[in-house]
Amino acid sequence: MNIHEYQAKELLAAAKVAVPAGKSTTTVAEAVEIAKGIFESGSDLVVVKAQIHAGGRGKGKTKNSGARGVILCRSVEEVRTAADSLLGDILVTIQTGESGQKVNTIYITDGVSIEKEFYLSILLDRGLGKNVIMVSTEGGVEIEKVAEETPEKIIKEWVEPGLKLQGCQARRLAFALDLSGDALKSAMKLFTNLYDFYVAKDASLVEVNPLVLTKEGEVVALDAKVTFDDNGLYRHADVQDLRDESEENPFELEASKYGLNYIKLDGNVGCMVNGAGLAMATMDIIKLSGGEPANFLDVGGGANVETVKNGFRIILDDPNVKGILINIFGGIVRCDRVANGILEAIKDEEIARKVQNVPIIVRLQGTNAKEAKEIIDNSGLNVISAVLLKEAAAEVARLFA
Ligand code: ADP
Ligand code: MG
Repeated sequence: MNIHEYQAKELLAAAKVAVPAGKSTTTVAEAVEIAKGIFESGSDLVVVKAQIHAGGRGKGKTKNSGARGVILCRSVEEVRTAADSLLGDILVTIQTGESGQKVNTIYITDGVSIEKEFYLSILLDRGLGKNVIMVSTEGGVEIEKVAEETPEKIIKEWVEPGLKLQGCQARRLAFALDLSGDALKSAMKLFTNLYDFYVAKDASLVEVNPLVLTKEGEVVALDAKVTFDDNGLYRHADVQDLRDESEENPFELEASKYGLNYIKLDGNVGCMVNGAGLAMATMDIIKLSGGEPANFLDVGGGANVETVKNGFRIILDDPNVKGILINIFGGIVRCDRVANGILEAIKDEEIARKVQNVPIIVRLQGTNAKEAKEIIDNSGLNVISAVLLKEAAAEVARLFA
């Protein structure tokens, strides 16, 4: 699960990680009030930042007003204009794709005088089975580029499972950023507290780009992207409350409510499969046959009437879908039961209406596959049956290539 920058900053501040002061809002009037407070506290710079779940906001642009997603303001009037240009507009960045993401919330934050910009992240190194904390002097730019062109500029420390980030490790990381004196101490404290936060909250990624050294010699997190491990969410009610469903793909959101594993794709052949590996292979088959998969959908091992019904609903909600390939392997579940489940699902009024012009190819293999094919062939419904994958592929090619 992802959260917004302002939510991440609130969590970080509570975990004693230095962040500039700031507050989120959904109105121009409140943005102006927050900015007044920041200017009155002695600051001469206020930054207005669009809150969407994608990065690259600084270089992104809104569709209507043409504003950047991060705007530096020197006066209350500039804050008013900035807030007005962002709220309600669609921000397009390299991470949102062309359709962009609507800006419902903005973050009004204290402008920091930047001496240097660094990069910092914490994530799991799956190869080594340890969390890794990475820093680089090449902050504020795309880290993927640094990793590709000058990987030696990324310094890593791996933390032993069950242990904290050690003092010597925090020191090595701060040295790698060429820090000394109070700035070094400030960085070490930030690394240590950020690592504790990452572990305590079951985060799967904390990325701070840029981490900055201010002209005053303090090290603070200027941006913050935090992703949580969904499997650990049940332990953190406070984190679950931060979920912003308006940032999620509506189809995927609905599927997650049914407990289905669904990823929306751009093609027109919907697929419903049991098992993630078979689902991947099925998408390959569709492509090899000349079609384009509309989705990845793993209905899990069971494949009963309810899951098949919900699968149909999700797939048919996508207006791009011109046909459906159902590929179920009857290992634990018997194919004849699945066949009956499919027929029963198609009899559902809403589904029946939607599948009228959508050909369905069903390939059932495994226990009682033959009986299953007979059930489908004798159903009188507009369903094409196949036993071999090659037959299903030929049908996909015939209909969609
Ligand atoms: P994104 O990564 O989405 O582009 P950032 O939060 O990293 O957004 O902001 C982009 C740039 O804007 C930063 O690299 C920094 O130069 C500037 N910036 C962001 N927040 C502040 C701030 N509080 N004070 C000064 N400059 C800022
Ligand atoms: Mg950033």
